[in-house]
Amino acid sequence: MNETVSAEDEAAGRSRPGTGPWEILVPGGHGTAFVAKSGQLIEIVDVEGQQVADFVAFAERNRTEWLSTTHTRSALLKLTVQTGDRLDSNWRHPMFEILRDDVGRNDIITSMCDDRRYRLDYQVEGHRSCRTNFAEALEPWGIAEWQIPDPFNFFQNAPIHPDRTFGNEIPTGQPGDKLVLRTLLDTIVAVSACPQDLNPCNGFNPSPLLIRVLEPADAS
Ligand SMILES: [Zn+2]
Repeated sequence: MNETVSAEDEAAGRSRPGTGPWEILVPGGHGTAFVAKSGQLIEIVDVEGQQVADFVAFAERNRTEWLSTTHTRSALLKLTVQTGDRLDSNWRHPMFEILRDDVGRNDIITSMCDDRRYRLDYQVEGHRSCRTNFAEALEPWGIAEWQIPDPFNFFQNAPIHPDRTFGNEIPTGQPGDKLVLRTLLDTIVAVSACPQDLNPCNGFNPSPLLIRVLEPADAS
């Protein structure tokens, strides 16, 4: 039986239990964190389209091991990830495998947004940010803001040009597009429906993400 969590609970950054299938609707601009056990599947659904899912993870057994864009790039010799790729930790252990990727565009180069980004680059005070979302959501596990690693930005449209510069364009995700990960290590996961509404990153309109954690037999 699925358990759906209210927007109010989610906005409060409440943590989720780690066993059994459940789903959570993350409002645009907000985040969540949960435990995913080895073998479980994580579905991230772009409910309305054009929404980026910033994604970080830590090994449940040891918080000094985290999902690493640097180590994943080095292992894959690629500047992006796609279906079939394994995502590695800073200890070089595979943490996830991408089983399905409807959008086919993911960024593993760009930093997450933070309050300084909005304050310094846009002169906006008090804007929500992925870093704040992660800090709030991971607080129940004792993970401090400075420990949050660089994110995997699923669905982010950052095309890499021939001269090695890269862009920041409106995502191509359509309503209902999903990305499915197989969890390969017991992990603490955090996902942020990026609040950036001042550049094309989320089509200028942050929107919800639906997160499901499933046993393999329950996957659609
Ligand atoms: Zn963001």
